[in-house]
Amino acid sequence: MFENLSERLSGVFDRLTKQGALSEDDVKTALREVRVALLEADVSLPVARDFVKRVQEQATGQAVTKSITPGQQVVKIVHDALVDTLTGDEDPGKLKVDNPPAPILMVGLQGGGKTTTTGKLAKRLKDREGKKVLMASLDVYRPAAMDQLAILGQQIGVDTLPIVPGQKPVDIAKRAKQQAALGGYDVYMLDTAGRLHIDEVLMQEVEDVRNVTEPRETLLVVDGLTGQVAVEVAQEFDDKIGISGVVLTRMDGDGRGGAALSMRAVTGKPIRFVGLGEKMDALETFEPERIAGRILG
Ligand code: GDP
Repeated sequence: MFENLSERLSGVFDRLTKQGALSEDDVKTALREVRVALLEADVSLPVARDFVKRVQEQATGQAVTKSITPGQQVVKIVHDALVDTLTGDEDPGKLKVDNPPAPILMVGLQGGGKTTTTGKLAKRLKDREGKKVLMASLDVYRPAAMDQLAILGQQIGVDTLPIVPGQKPVDIAKRAKQQAALGGYDVYMLDTAGRLHIDEVLMQEVEDVRNVTEPRETLLVVDGLTGQVAVEVAQEFDDKIGISGVVLTRMDGDGRGGAALSMRAVTGKPIRFVGLGEKMDALETFEPERIAGRILG
């Protein structure tokens, strides 16, 4: 897990083994490499800077352990600090779905993986927690999106709200709420419409839906490969709607996962799940250890 960065650091630390403690200069030199590694992993510059500064304070003066090289020791300090930043008080995999029917609002930009993730989460709630789930598509602009959710529902054995052409998103949401109560559902999930960019109409619509349903969870689904953009999108959705967590999709791709660190540092919101593919079971609970390892390369 630590090889890449450790290799980079080994030269820097050759002379340090004799000194017995990490000096400020040596730590600074090493952390320059760490900063490059973070930026290469798509962590934003201000977040990388802040992070490195904090680690520098922690690392300076630490006694060098005999069993590992100083380079490895700095990487370990960095790794632990990454895990610490990425870990919150909450249990990422535990959605608030008591008091049935519990509404879950799914938000995000078009193409981020919202509909796919709605299906994945519904399946997870059904399979792992035995919940009876109803899914509803509010994407009145793209009938294909509504059909897509219905097809996913059939695949995973989860009910979808029947499509009524011409209904407004807020009315579909009301109907879902009613149906969830009448049908004895534990959870109802609302898959909102996405846009290519954030716009006022979209936000107003999501806000109206939020107001009539009072969701227990509002999950933002974003493409983890979009790095900084993902963080900006999360910030905007949080400011306007208020989100309870983030799902980072396409983490099966080549990305190094730096968006996760920026996301947590900038928005303070927990990453709850990561999407690891197109299939309905390609969803995992967010694990700080795993992402930290990946960021370090
Ligand atoms: P939406 O517009 O936000 O609802 O996005 P969709 O759910 O329709 O997803 C857009 C595309 O991304 C589809 O082809 C999905 O199969 C794909 N997708 C979604 N999540 C993941 C993921 O975690 N990994 C990969 N590789 N593809 C994903």
